[in-house]
This record gives sequence, C-alpha cells and structure tokens, in this order.
Amino acid sequence: MTPMYNRPQGAPPLASNCCIKCGAELKNVEIGLTKKMVNRGTKEFMCLKCLSEFTGVSEQELLDKAEHFKKMGCILF
Ligand SMILES: [Zn+2]
Repeated sequence: MTPMYNRPQGAPPLASNCCIKCGAELKNVEIGLTKKMVNRGTKEFMCLKCLSEFTGVSEQELLDKAEHFKKMGCILF
C-alpha cells in the first residue's frame, strides 16, 4: 500500500512533548493516540502506559488502534 504522504528522512518528531502524568518522553504514536482517545485539540499528551490507565484500554489495544489509524492514512500518525 502506498502511503498517502511521506515525511522526509530524519525529520524532527511532530512534537517533543513529555507525558503530563509521568514525564516520559513521548513517541509520535503516543501523541496521536492521546489526540484520538482524549481530545483532538489537546496540547497535553500521555505516554502509552498513562493513556492506558486513563482510558481503561490496554496498551496492546491502543497500539492496535494506532496501527489501524495508520492504515487509514490518518495524519495524526
Ligand atoms: Zn506517562
């Protein structure tokens, strides 16, 4: 499947925020998931572990959702 867009190699991450609960450095996927699961307009993001606790969705399920969104071509991921 051809991706709908390509980010240049070595591009900086979309955001360099840290988890608002535990301060862990965030991956793009965690930022995207926070937007999807909590609030699309949020400026505060959670790591996978804290997001899992917050939403009651298991970490594995969150990752599965992220994969799904990626396949749909969601620009958040
Ligand atoms: Zn955290």
